[in-house]
Amino acid sequence: MINFNVPPCADRAMDYISECVKNQKICGDGPFTKKCSQWIEEKTGTAKCLLTTSCTHATELAALLAGIAPGDEVIMPAYTFVSTADAFVLRGAVPVFVDIRPDTMNIDETLIEAAITEKTRAIVPVHYAGVACEMDTIMDIAKRHHLTVIEDAAQGVMSTYKGKALGTIGDFGCYSFHETKNYSMGEGGALLIREEKYVEDAEIIREKGTNRSKFFRGQIDKYTWVNFGSSYLPSDMNAAYLYAQLEIADEINEARLALWNRYYEKLQPLKEAGKIELPIVPEGCVHNAHMFYLKAKDIEERTALISYLKEHGVYSVFHYIPLHTAPAGRKFGRFHGEDRYTTSESERLARLPMYYGLTPEQVDYICDQVKNFYL
Ligand SMILES: *Cc1c(COP(=O)(O)O)cnc(C)c1O
Repeated sequence: MINFNVPPCADRAMDYISECVKNQKICGDGPFTKKCSQWIEEKTGTAKCLLTTSCTHATELAALLAGIAPGDEVIMPAYTFVSTADAFVLRGAVPVFVDIRPDTMNIDETLIEAAITEKTRAIVPVHYAGVACEMDTIMDIAKRHHLTVIEDAAQGVMSTYKGKALGTIGDFGCYSFHETKNYSMGEGGALLIREEKYVEDAEIIREKGTNRSKFFRGQIDKYTWVNFGSSYLPSDMNAAYLYAQLEIADEINEARLALWNRYYEKLQPLKEAGKIELPIVPEGCVHNAHMFYLKAKDIEERTALISYLKEHGVYSVFHYIPLHTAPAGRKFGRFHGEDRYTTSESERLARLPMYYGLTPEQVDYICDQVKNFYL
């Protein structure tokens, strides 16, 4: 069987984890956590990167920093992972779902403004498959309506929009290092902060409401409880596992892009024959090959394709069930406007195996099976 995903692992992971164990440095904010956040800061140009226990927690931290309060409204797509909404629902806010664009599966930026009310506080663009949302338009809307922009860039590490790293354009950006993402620490994430003024509060909330980060830097001689907070620091062992991959991030990125391009080329004849649709990457967007998907005619055809591939040794999967159709989505949120594409496009989409270590021969085999299905 060809797996759908295999977690990324770099050769030096075990050496680095052993180093943590030997040096007895296993808690949060140790040497590898520092190396990872420094790497992200240099690579992306963000003012500050804080490693977190997940992208979900990075988003919760962003919601706290943005001062999201009960009754506030937060605009986002319904075609996303539950965490995008959960982080705000936990603060008592209402997710307001807006339809997606069929070309990128990202929020349709032209529909955002009509969904804004007096209660709107934030916009949460989700960069699906590591392909950027139309950030210029979104930032312009946010500026005119004084809204905070929190990028769900869980899938967007190493992707750019008009030369800017995803996660650095909005006020806050959230990365995921879950085992299904391009770079992983098992469970983990990062919060990217664009403006210095939020950094101190962010460090305090991440450290249980204490000023312990300042204490560790020697800026104060004892630390104390100064604000509300939680525990969003990952163990340095997890950071060690991640750092081994960040060191070879370009190699991982290029390997993934080569697989992605190979899929695209091999499946192009089926696209030209009108049998399937392939992903679209708009101009100005450089993606990271987080995902390779195709779109079948409808849900019946997709279901048949997924089972055909499984019978032929390939695990392919569908993706998000739109949040507004889920029990919690109906309870906590609302859809603004017409669901023209969210449900219909999500029902057609099938993801093919994509991970660091997948071979070109396996991609060829998978494409042959897709072609056989459509013959
Ligand atoms: C993976 C993912 C998340 C959640 O990431 P965790 O690190 O598992 O919390 C959130 N949003 C999107 C779009 C994702 O793909």
